[in-house]
Amino acid sequence: MSAEAAKRWYWEHGGKEKKRLYNKAHLSDRKEKEKERWKQKKQALVDMLGGACKCGYSKLSGLTFHHNGDKNDDVSNMRDKPLEVLMDEIKDAELLCMNCHMELHYGWLDS
Ligand SMILES: [Zn+2]
Repeated sequence: MSAEAAKRWYWEHGGKEKKRLYNKAHLSDRKEKEKERWKQKKQALVDMLGGACKCGYSKLSGLTFHHNGDKNDDVSNMRDKPLEVLMDEIKDAELLCMNCHMELHYGWLDS
């Protein structure tokens, strides 16, 4: 390889690597923003339903929405939907933590 070709090789590959790193950073930046948006939406939904499970648990990460009425889809699958749509979806739902939610659905396993 001539010095010229080596230089070209270096820049081409260096460029690709830079682009890859840029894409990676850009992508994770977008993911961070999506996470932040979902956090804010979930907080609003949780607040709307009283802010805590009946057992007192109130951490955002472990709270779920239990549907009493009609259910179109899991709220967690609807993260991209506008907040108003989500609020409408869960207006009849009960706020439950993971444990209480599982007990509600699978309590028969304990007896
Ligand atoms: Zn609970």
